[in-house]
Amino acid sequence: MTRKPTASTEIHDLRALLAVVVDALTLPFDTPNYDQRILARAATARVVVGEALIEDPAGNLGWNLDYLRQQLAQEETEAAEQAKNQCGRCHKPFDPTDTRHDGHDRYASTPWCRRCIDNCRDGGTEHVCVICDPARYGGGGR
Ligand SMILES: [Zn+2]
Ligand SMILES: [Zn+2]
Repeated sequence: MTRKPTASTEIHDLRALLAVVVDALTLPFDTPNYDQRILARAATARVVVGEALIEDPAGNLGWNLDYLRQQLAQEETEAAEQAKNQCGRCHKPFDPTDTRHDGHDRYASTPWCRRCIDNCRDGGTEHVCVICDPARYGGGGR
């Protein structure tokens, strides 16, 4: 059974859709891959809202709303997955084939790549980085 939206459910759906769009365009500034992710999320929002605008005005905004929520949830899952597989310092994806001492493979079970560990170890007396001094970078133990 299809429910024909009344004016009040439309307003409700519209407000909810706008809230999801704002969510889509909001990430904490310290999010890894911030630029890349915000662009991907903006593109998703643009497509879904664009579709909503093309559709019959009596079309069900609730559907677009659910779809956008779902797409954003998927984006978040993928980003979390990717974050687990990249260096916490240089954000390059770990590359298991690049096992040189300064390559981009993961160094043991640390969240850092070999290059960053290497760079840290070779650092002079002035050297500080998130690996040897996480507190300075607001990290603590993560
Ligand atoms: Zn690195
Ligand atoms: Zn260091």
